[in-house]
Amino acid sequence: MQHIKNYINGVLTEPVSKKYLDNFCPSTGKVYSHIPDSDENDVELAYQAAKQAFPEWSVTPKEKRSQYLLKIASLIEANLDRLALAESIDNGKPVKLAKVVDIPRAAANFHFYGTGILHYASHAHAMENSAINYTLRQPVGVAGCISPWNLPLYLFTWKIAPALAAGCTVVAKPSEVTPMTAFLLSELCIEAGLPAGVLNIVHGLGAKVGNAIVSHKNIPLISFTGGTVTGKQIASIAAPMFKKLSLELGGKNPNVIFADCDYEKMLTTTINSSFSNQGQICLCGSRIFVEKKIYDKFKKDFVAKTKELVVGDPSHEKTKVGAIVSKPHFEKILSYIELAKTEGGTVLCGGKPHGMTGDFKDGYYIEPTVIEGLSYDCRTNQEEIFGPVVTITPFETEEEALMMANSTIYGLASIVWTQDLTKAHRVANHLHAGIVWINCWLLRDLRTPFGGVKASGVGREGGFEALDFFTEPKNVCIKL
Ligand code: NDP
Repeated sequence: MQHIKNYINGVLTEPVSKKYLDNFCPSTGKVYSHIPDSDENDVELAYQAAKQAFPEWSVTPKEKRSQYLLKIASLIEANLDRLALAESIDNGKPVKLAKVVDIPRAAANFHFYGTGILHYASHAHAMENSAINYTLRQPVGVAGCISPWNLPLYLFTWKIAPALAAGCTVVAKPSEVTPMTAFLLSELCIEAGLPAGVLNIVHGLGAKVGNAIVSHKNIPLISFTGGTVTGKQIASIAAPMFKKLSLELGGKNPNVIFADCDYEKMLTTTINSSFSNQGQICLCGSRIFVEKKIYDKFKKDFVAKTKELVVGDPSHEKTKVGAIVSKPHFEKILSYIELAKTEGGTVLCGGKPHGMTGDFKDGYYIEPTVIEGLSYDCRTNQEEIFGPVVTITPFETEEEALMMANSTIYGLASIVWTQDLTKAHRVANHLHAGIVWINCWLLRDLRTPFGGVKASGVGREGGFEALDFFTEPKNVCIKL
């Protein structure tokens, strides 16, 4: 059985402890590889390698850094099929989805920052005849990057690419639940000739490896994507150490549907925004609010379309909904469906595990689930479930829709469906979220700042904001 390795100082290495953890394939429920059970000793080795590499990497001309990033991007593209399959086996998502979303986007991250750094500018300010001020942007140092399991390579590279482009060296930890594509990335970095120590990948548990990165006294910056509870814990360690911190956290996103929407487009997109990646995208719209005038029609059509979704073997071309990422997460989602029932919800479809046979009988499949009849402020509608479960709720007025949409502690994303231009802008203006999609979902120009408000996080990734994050401004003032 394959043993995944850490990537430290340019070499694939065993964990210091020589201990390994089981890596489960969610579609079969079976162990299919082992991953390093690393600890603070491995993080220290990774830090030392990154520290040694920093002086040279930070002054490597940006054109040269760019070439490395573009080379990695092209290697990801060249290995699209292999990476997509690996991500599907590791995560349970349909291979097709990994092929069109996750892996191309991972390549795009390297491409975007490999070219973006060439156009990243600092500023100069003249004080007429008395002085000139200029601002240098200098890489912060060794960056700590920690990512989750839902879009494994996509989110891992979303941090690593801008960090490397900006001239930081990196100690990174992918989720222990989905380590395979990060391991394959380390092989591609070796193939690309990335200098030793510039990127170091340490596999293992959050409580050990993640915690060791966050608490390391010489890692001055943490870029984290994951759950709000973990983010809170990280902030409590990093903030008193005055670390630079970017936290991309959970969501409970509203999808507000007005009666005057383009109905067919809305219906098709709402199926995707509800159930793509088994509903395990932080940007999925899990609370659907529908104007009363079309509520009954929507309910009938939406439930019918949800029932048509093919659940099953992620490698099948027709599969739309694959396996849930892990057994604990599978159980958590089912427990929320039970909670919804006790809170007065009616399950309109799904609501139970999806039975499979043969090799897949122990996999973690849940039928796409639609629930109605819940109050907007019950736990099911307030807590992040992060699975193929949505609630539908009617509303009468725009004010009521906004009140319910804004009622959670989260503020990551939101979706609005209407053909009324003025209403669209007005509602977008009043939604408390980092991003508002009008008549679409998941469309994004990588130049825009990305992130949430309230308990969905602090800081922004994407665009030049990410390069700002991985660099420090130093102002120099010369008297004339
Ligand atoms: P977790 O918060 O459980 O884990 C995220 C990462 O942090 C993993 O690598 C995890 O390691 C690690 N980790 C866990 N505990 C610690 C710790 N004490 N110190 C440092 N690192 C730690 O999130 P999930 O992996 O379960 O991901 C799902 C969550 O991510 C959802 O809440 C989702 O909304 C959110 N998310 C947010 C996005 C955004 O952009 N805002 C995008 C995507 C997801 P390990 O897995 O080994 O425990």
